[in-house]
Amino acid sequence: MPTPDIATFVAALPKVELHLHLVGSASVETVLALSRGHPDSTVPTDPDALGRFYEFTDFEHFLNVYRQVNLLVRTGADIVTLLDGLASDLAGNAVRYAEVQVTAVRNRMSGIEFDDLAQALADGRALAAEKYGVEFGWIFDADSRLGTAGAEETLDFALRYRPEGTVGLGLAGMERGVSRADYAPVFRRARDAGLHCLPHAGETVGPAEVWAAVTELGAERIGHGIGSVTDPRLLEQLAARDIALEVCPTSNVCTAAVPDLAAHPLPRLLAAGVPVTLATDDPGMFHTDLNTEYLVCHEQFGLGVAELADIARTGARAAFCSAELRARVLDEIDDLVEAVGQASR
Ligand SMILES: [Zn+2]
Repeated sequence: MPTPDIATFVAALPKVELHLHLVGSASVETVLALSRGHPDSTVPTDPDALGRFYEFTDFEHFLNVYRQVNLLVRTGADIVTLLDGLASDLAGNAVRYAEVQVTAVRNRMSGIEFDDLAQALADGRALAAEKYGVEFGWIFDADSRLGTAGAEETLDFALRYRPEGTVGLGLAGMERGVSRADYAPVFRRARDAGLHCLPHAGETVGPAEVWAAVTELGAERIGHGIGSVTDPRLLEQLAARDIALEVCPTSNVCTAAVPDLAAHPLPRLLAAGVPVTLATDDPGMFHTDLNTEYLVCHEQFGLGVAELADIARTGARAAFCSAELRARVLDEIDDLVEAVGQASR
């Protein structure tokens, strides 16, 4: 093959996506269709107004908007529609496997009973595999605003239904004023039941909560974790224990977790030897996709073919997919890098 430019390489690079929220992944078109169908909603029904609605002033404002969009998703059929659109978008980014965060308690608050949610996830997962060749895993995330009771209820759902593809328990939402350590009992119960522990930590706060996620919750990966960067001992621990950070650069700028991309700590995390995987968080709300996140790393941080391939490999190794799928993705990455290497010789 001829020497590809970096965009062609990124587009072809087989990937996994490990940090992605179901409702936040909905495309602008999907959200407009839902808002037009629900005139009682506070979400705009025309594209320009929705664009302005998605301009976030800070993390709390983002969470507030997210909750309003979540209220548009009211039936199992809506969930399947979201998964269909998401799988199509992922396939367009050469994503083979994605772990999707599903906030079951919030879905129920907007009208979807647990029975219907479990069925919709099963249907959407089968459809994604068949129609797009994309495999979904599920992380059932608790919203910190609903406290530890909400987290217990989330885990009850995961254990009672355990939809095919169930990976683990997550914890998202507001970080300030929330102590990860309070969630130790529910994460212990999840671990005892064989679930993986995958909380957000250090998205908008410093290293103390990342430490708590690791030592108190038994986190096996960290959602964001960028707040770790100021603590060399923590970075050393993350590297030594092979705890990957799910880093979402565009998200961090959109929610004002970092002032701009130039200030993003990703290069310092990589330099410290921490396993870093790239993700989109809420691609529909942040006007991004996974290819864009890889290109951002090229343009902003100067990462080339070898480094971007390594990030894709880190993702495959940190994914809780089957060993077969992991091996296939790693082989595909090697094949692409080899082809590019031959072309540039
Ligand atoms: Zn997130």
